[in-house]
Amino acid sequence: MTFSAVIVAAGASLRAGPGEPKPWRDLGGRPVLAWSARALSAAGARRLAVVTTADRMEAARTLLAGLPGLVVVEGGALRSLSVRAGLAALDGAPEEPVLIHDAARPFLESAVIARVLAALKGADGAIAALPVPDSLKRGDGQIIGSVDREGLWRAQTPQAFPRGALLAAFQAWSGPEPTDEAAVMEAAGARIALVPGDPRLFKLTWPEDFAMAESLARPAREVRMGQGIDAHRWGPGDGVWLCGVRIPHDGALIGHSDADAGLHALTDALLGAMGEGDIGQHFPPSDLRWKGEPSATFLAHAGALLAARGGRILSLDLTLVCERPKVAPYREAMRQAVAGILGIDVSRVSIKATTTEGMGYTGRQEGLLAQAVAAVELPAA
Ligand code: MG
Repeated sequence: MTFSAVIVAAGASLRAGPGEPKPWRDLGGRPVLAWSARALSAAGARRLAVVTTADRMEAARTLLAGLPGLVVVEGGALRSLSVRAGLAALDGAPEEPVLIHDAARPFLESAVIARVLAALKGADGAIAALPVPDSLKRGDGQIIGSVDREGLWRAQTPQAFPRGALLAAFQAWSGPEPTDEAAVMEAAGARIALVPGDPRLFKLTWPEDFAMAESLARPAREVRMGQGIDAHRWGPGDGVWLCGVRIPHDGALIGHSDADAGLHALTDALLGAMGEGDIGQHFPPSDLRWKGEPSATFLAHAGALLAARGGRILSLDLTLVCERPKVAPYREAMRQAVAGILGIDVSRVSIKATTTEGMGYTGRQEGLLAQAVAAVELPAA
C-alpha cells in the first residue's frame, strides 16, 4: 500500500524553554525533525510534506535534501492550519492513506508505521496510542477527585486517514482548535482504530524531555575482541621484564625493546580489537627511537588510541607460557602494573601462566610465549 505523510514542525515550542524551536534542536547530532522524516521516508512514504515556519523552509530543504517526494510547506498559526497546508501540498488518489506526525516525536519505529497502516484496512482511520497505566487524578495542587483510567488511552502520532476523508472532515469542522486529527475525524463519524504505539514516541514538550531523548539517541555501543601473540628468545642475562615487572632470573629475553612479551601481546590484542594493525606497524623495529624502550610506552599508546575512539577496555586475559621463571609470585604486581599503564581497574586484568611440560621451544627453554585476548567496548560503527 502506498502512503504519504505530513510532518508538523511549525509550532512555537513555548513549553520547551529557551533555545531553538523543538524541531531544530540537536538530538544525537542531528535536528529533531530529521529523525522522523528519515523514518517515514525509510518506511516508503511516496510523498513527504514537511510543514514549518517561513523562516525555516530553506533550512528544512537543506536538512532533508535527497528524501524522495519531499515538499516543504509553510505552516499556519494553528496546528490544524499547518496540517491542512500539508494535506493541500500532497497529490495522488483521495483514498491514499496519509500519516500525520508530530516532528516533536522523533523516535518513530517502522513497526509503528506498519501497524497504523495495516489497521486502516478495517477502519476509517488508525492512530498510535498507549493505554494509561497510572492512576488519574483531577486537581489543582491538591486532589479534587479521581478519574477512572479504565478504557483511557494516550493518543500519539502517527495518525493515519485516507487523505480525501481527512480533508473533508477538516472542511466540515466547526469546533475549537482540535488537539489532533482523530478528533476532527471522530466528529465526522469515522471509526478510528487504536493501534499499539511506542513509549519512545513520547512528545518532546518540557525541557527535561530533551535529556531523556538524548539518552535514547546516544549511539549504541558494541563489544569487540582482539588477540595478541608474542614470543622472545632466551639469552644470557640476570633478569627479565614481564608485564611491566622486573623479575630476577638467570637469563634475559632478547629483543629490540625491553622484550616484554607480555606487554607486547596485550598491545597487539588491543590493536586487534580496534582493527588498528599490529605493534610492528606502530613502532617499527627499524626505528632506532624504540631501541630499549620500556614496553609500557607501546601498551599506553594502544590504550590512548582506544580512548580517542571513545572506547573502553572490558577485560584483558594474558597467558605466559614458560618453564621458568615462576610467574605466580609476581602475578599481582603484574596485574597492578598493567592496570596502572592503562588506567583501568585491576579486576579487568587477568594474568595466567602455564608450562608445556618440557615440550616445544618453550619447554626446551629456547623462548617464552605470551598470548592475550582483549575485549573492548566501542561506539557502534
Ligand atoms: Mg615482542
